Amino acid sequence: MSRDDLNQGGIGVNSQRARDRLLERLFEKGIRNHAVLEALGSVPRHLFVDEALGYRAYEDTALPISYNQTISQPYIVARMTELLLGGRPTLDRVLEVGTGCGYQTAVLAGLVKRVYTVERILPLLEKAQQRFKSLKLLNVFSKHADGIMGWPGKGPFDGIIVTASPSEVPKELLAQLADGARLVIPVGDEGGQVLRVIQRQGDEFISTDREAVMFVPLLSGTVQ
Ligand code: SAH
Repeated sequence: MSRDDLNQGGIGVNSQRARDRLLERLFEKGIRNHAVLEALGSVPRHLFVDEALGYRAYEDTALPISYNQTISQPYIVARMTELLLGGRPTLDRVLEVGTGCGYQTAVLAGLVKRVYTVERILPLLEKAQQRFKSLKLLNVFSKHADGIMGWPGKGPFDGIIVTASPSEVPKELLAQLADGARLVIPVGDEGGQVLRVIQRQGDEFISTDREAVMFVPLLSGTVQ
């Protein structure tokens, strides 16, 4: 029995076996990028959900966090990360809009050089920042702001990932893409959203719609 198992009163939900099973499930669902699978395998997802839900942390499902928000489903985190990398082994500077609990941020931190992440709800951001600190994710930079504006001054970015859904792609995000960079964003409304990948080539933006998804809405303004 591992120390994690003992910490959970012997339930074993956070055991290596539970994590390995999750990775197998992601592979079965079509995630083939080994670096991405490895990055998901190395992030302790139970530390990103409320203790009471810890026993479900390694299921491939979205779970509620506070302020009516959710921690994304591991499959979606893996898929979006795979699409962001687009076959490249790593990226230099990545912007994430919608830190939430910080799970996607932590996965990215294991794969790219620097992650900039923006969250509009201050208490969520502060809790995520504590997790980044205790996990010693020194390449994560975060701030409380409306991410519809991107992070002016830190771009251009080699990749931008948005984990909440607007009805239209914010122009500021397109403007902060470096040449050749990709924006991965769920577009639509609660009735239906599609995961869109937009690649910048000079002044052109090549857009591809991938699969149906369901995210919380991208809202403007900030909450203290
Ligand atoms: N990345 C998270 C998912 C978070 S849910 C994960 O790994 O699980 C989406 C988050 O986007 C919520 O916390 C919500 O508050 C935030 N959000 C919505 N609109 C935003 C905006 N305009 N700027 C920044 N964050 C936003």
